Amino acid sequence: MKRMGPLMIIEGKNNSKVPYSRNIFIDCPEKVLIDCGADPQTLLEVNDQFGIELIVNTHYHPDHTQYNHLFPKAQKWINPLEFETARSIEGIAKANGIYEEWGEAGIEQWKKQLPQEWVNNLQQISGTYQYEVEYCFGGVKTVLLHTPGHTAGLSSPYFPELGVVYVGDYDMTTFGPWYNGTDGSIEDFIESGKRLLTLDADTFITGHQKGLFTKQEFQSEMQRFLEVIDKRDEMIDYYARQGLSFEELTNIGIFYPKEVLKVPIFKTWERCGIRKHLRRLNLTVSEMPKAYAVTK
Ligand SMILES: [Zn+2]
Repeated sequence: MKRMGPLMIIEGKNNSKVPYSRNIFIDCPEKVLIDCGADPQTLLEVNDQFGIELIVNTHYHPDHTQYNHLFPKAQKWINPLEFETARSIEGIAKANGIYEEWGEAGIEQWKKQLPQEWVNNLQQISGTYQYEVEYCFGGVKTVLLHTPGHTAGLSSPYFPELGVVYVGDYDMTTFGPWYNGTDGSIEDFIESGKRLLTLDADTFITGHQKGLFTKQEFQSEMQRFLEVIDKRDEMIDYYARQGLSFEELTNIGIFYPKEVLKVPIFKTWERCGIRKHLRRLNLTVSEMPKAYAVTK
């Protein structure tokens, strides 16, 4: 476990790749854990040693909240915009585009394959934090910046006195920016990304894979990362102008590799993502009525 002053960085399996995440424990009297999707064994060890009292979830996605239930005594906070969303299966299904793409039938289908543990987690969210306010955890100043785009409510915990920021899903992976839920926004993603670059910080910690970046590295990585959005624009623009229908466009593999698009949730996010680009590009393509599009 890497330590940076009072911050302990807890890795998830497989280099914290989705569906796991990298978390931060603030070693202070309040015993605060930021996000809860790292290696469960390590999280439990941290709990044995320190006793986690408060879990601050940056957003509702399972890779950042999935082990909340392992700490029944801890308070679990989430950002104020996602409190309601995070507490119900329907809320999460809607935010993930399942309702938008497949209607009620899609939600019913999706519910059937949810792990019960994960469902139990939802009711455990106990409160909300405020954005942009200075919290002081045992002297560690922490500001939960509102950085929408990936989801509408995503927060980025910033430790101004340590010069550290946890940038979560600004993960700089080759996949590129993810804004594929109905609550995601391309424009906000770009805006928040640019804001992160203005912070007075020397260390940027991502939630997945690559990990730690200096400011200079983070700046050049951000440019490359955001350019993926332009590449998606170009591809979608090209195919739409070739006269492809929405269904054809969503079978190419713009976001996800073509071979995983048979998995319903990836197909859902592919569709949702392409819709956002079409809107942004002001393009319309022909689309089958929803009733015919439902995957069984
Ligand atoms: Zn996420």
